Amino acid sequence: MDAALAALLAVAVVADAVADGTWARLKTCREPSCRWAFYDHSRNRRRTWCSMDICGNRVKARASHRRRTAARP
Ligand SMILES: [Zn+2]
Repeated sequence: MDAALAALLAVAVVADAVADGTWARLKTCREPSCRWAFYDHSRNRRRTWCSMDICGNRVKARASHRRRTAARP
């Protein structure tokens, strides 16, 4: 595809997303080692990771590991 046409198409897609409110649901993953862009399908728009199974669990595992190690005397 022509590069100029591709750029034009990208602008059209973004304009569409802004117009219908989906723009607010386009997010990047909070996991620093991931940073994937994802679309927030959740009703309350509170998703912070691209995947709860991958990045969500990674963060939760890290947090519980910290709690376990901190509890030691
Ligand atoms: Zn992620």
